[in-house]
Amino acid sequence: MKVEVSEAQIQTVADQVQVHKFGGSSLADAYCYRRVARIVTEYAGASDLVVVSAAGDTTNRILAIIDAKHEADADADGDYGMAEVLLKQLEKYQQGLITELLSGEHQQRLLRASEIDFARWWDWLSGAEIIENRPELLSYGELWSARLLSTLLQQQGTQADHIDARSFLVADDAPEPLIRVDVSRAGLLNRIAPYAGTRFIVTGFICADPEGRSLILGRNGSDYSATLVGSLIDSKQVTIWKDVAGVYSADPRKVERVVSLPILDWREAEELARLGSPVLHPRTFQPVNRERMVIAVRSSLKVENQQTRIGLYEDAEASGKVLTALSEVVLFRVDLRDAKLIEAFEELELTPLISWNEVAQHQAYYAYHQNHLDYMEQWLAEIDTKHNASKLTGYAMLALVGNRIQETEQYSVFKQETSEQALRRLALTPDNNAVVAILEQKLDNRLLNRIHSQLFNHRRSLGVLVVGRGNIGSAWLSLYRRLRERINEQMDVRIIGVLNSTRMWLDYNGLDLTDWQDNFERLARPYEMSQLIPELPNAPYDELVMLDLTDATAVAQLYPSFFANGLHIISANKRAGASTESQYSEIRTIQQEYQREWYYNTTVGAGLPLNYALNDLRNSGDSIQSISGIFSGTMSWLFENFNADVKFSDLVREAKERGLSEPDPREDLSCQDIIRKLLILAREIGLRLDWKDIDVDSLLPEHLADIPLDEFMQRLPELDDGMQDLYQDAQQTGKVPRLLASFAVRDDDRVIARVGIEYIPEGDMLANLIPGENIFVIYTDWYHEMPLVISGPGAGKEVTAGGVQSDLNQLLSRLSKKV
Ligand code: ASP
Ligand code: MG
Repeated sequence: MKVEVSEAQIQTVADQVQVHKFGGSSLADAYCYRRVARIVTEYAGASDLVVVSAAGDTTNRILAIIDAKHEADADADGDYGMAEVLLKQLEKYQQGLITELLSGEHQQRLLRASEIDFARWWDWLSGAEIIENRPELLSYGELWSARLLSTLLQQQGTQADHIDARSFLVADDAPEPLIRVDVSRAGLLNRIAPYAGTRFIVTGFICADPEGRSLILGRNGSDYSATLVGSLIDSKQVTIWKDVAGVYSADPRKVERVVSLPILDWREAEELARLGSPVLHPRTFQPVNRERMVIAVRSSLKVENQQTRIGLYEDAEASGKVLTALSEVVLFRVDLRDAKLIEAFEELELTPLISWNEVAQHQAYYAYHQNHLDYMEQWLAEIDTKHNASKLTGYAMLALVGNRIQETEQYSVFKQETSEQALRRLALTPDNNAVVAILEQKLDNRLLNRIHSQLFNHRRSLGVLVVGRGNIGSAWLSLYRRLRERINEQMDVRIIGVLNSTRMWLDYNGLDLTDWQDNFERLARPYEMSQLIPELPNAPYDELVMLDLTDATAVAQLYPSFFANGLHIISANKRAGASTESQYSEIRTIQQEYQREWYYNTTVGAGLPLNYALNDLRNSGDSIQSISGIFSGTMSWLFENFNADVKFSDLVREAKERGLSEPDPREDLSCQDIIRKLLILAREIGLRLDWKDIDVDSLLPEHLADIPLDEFMQRLPELDDGMQDLYQDAQQTGKVPRLLASFAVRDDDRVIARVGIEYIPEGDMLANLIPGENIFVIYTDWYHEMPLVISGPGAGKEVTAGGVQSDLNQLLSRLSKKV
């Protein structure tokens, strides 16, 4: 056949027409068809070619019908029931697509065509019509989908038509049909060149011999059809639309945290296909002019996702790109002295995954994919009548593909990882674009995931700066030492510094925490926090976190600077969360701007899971109406122990000595500590509240407020008379004094907040706490008749250190999910 169109037209086709391909699963139902139609109108050019497979599993259904008929034929009193059922189902499926997608004249026309086709099928089944040629039956699958898609486009007003590939794609029959390029090219160009502005839908999978008999291009052959068609018109690009976004570092159905590959070199893609990766059919690459064409692999479900472009990217840096696996591999073993058989293997066109010799044993091994077993056995039956080749099963393959694989670091990781398995053989492929391991064991996804993450997801690291080495700091450091292994599971976590207000012990490699107190004494140097912070981004970690285990305003004031220098923050220090509205909103703004995490679960109720409860309720649609209770472990301890026979000053002194109060007990007595908690809680649930909005009754007389701590401790008894009076006063009505905090959201959205002494009936829950216990009484929309009550110890270095650890765990699980 001659090309009848002009050179100029041919050139226009080559420049402008691109090819798209949609597989069967992209056309499985009416919804899928509409999506494909939308992609074809929006993402394909006006004259583009669209190659389609048979809808859904039509090809498999056709094969099943043919098999059922053959079985019935073979049976003497043949029962065609099974074949009939299957054919009816296929007819219903195909016609269902037509009626769902088309209407009016379009529907009528296609239903008529379909009825004619199926009448032929029924005739064939009953023996009234002879169709010996299986490919002819198989061809219907692709014919139906091409016809339907083009009609759907027409109905939508898009200029479209369909082409049966057998009308131009001519091949000579062979196990893999040999395309007659010139005739095929002429046929295609003559058909499309005069019709610029029409989108042609072309049947994949099928072609015809010179006599017009149908041939197929092999299972899943439509990818090959697409690049064939692209090559015939010399197209610049073929886009293969899939239900995954391109090519990944491993099979995303089996492996987590796979990365998608923006580019892949031809040889890598080809090697990948040869090694059994399901992404593209090996023959897809055969017809391609590698200098000119690019194959894009792209998601039809998420069009906006990254695509993989396969092209000439030879100069790209050497790197391992894809981990691919075959769970069933067969080995053929041949005696090296059997020269004829060895030669036959060496010349066989179907190349093995790998092959190797074991010279001492006089043996050669050829590894093949299970899918090729039938072919291999047939071939062997013909050439090896004496059965000299033995077949060994029970093997699997893992391979890492990437050009110049041997130069990459992943090569040694792969070698190391596979050597820990039942490794039978490891070898580089001759072109050095894959390393292949044959394992004498089963593969499971866990192993794949493990090796994949070793190869591609380097373990992310977190550097921890511990500020404050008092009670909580010490308790957390010993907790950390105990849990180190667990903490390090998700990320590589290291303590890079321990700091107090004047000295720091810093080492970016990570501190050795055995005898850390001594080491601190020996190695800590004076420092200036404001100078240290801008240096911290140099620490070689993926992420950094500062644990603020101090009670220092000076540290809290630096939060914006910590965030801006890339640190996350975990606070046991309340000062930032309870700073003035304007400081607080500055901290939040910077935190958001730099997308840092801030956890402060221990600032209210120490280790109690208060923040979880509140956030969970709010995230589930509840809203908090009020919270009241005893927010201070110190105050709880003081008042639960206080009675007519005890001096309040003795209790304060004991609380300080036992570490139950803030280092300066005036923080507690003035209610500052409680106000801070109240502010943090209120802000946590989204309320705007500032110091000045809270109504406070302090227990601290003003004249004791500004004297040095030592002097204050000496003058503590000055509190006693007043406190005793308070107690007696409450007793008049059978009550006891308690220091309560509360806030409530009023109907007009204003917040009422108060901290001070209340008299509580002696039997009340609030009057009967264990000394030190905190209690939070929470009323919400859902908990309005009976409140949600959270109580338990609200102070203590162990529970607080545990709460800090809980924050760190949260941070870790959050960070380790970021890729
Ligand atoms: N419909 C054919 C098959 O299922 C071709 C293809 O899907 O690529 O094998
Ligand atoms: Mg298919």
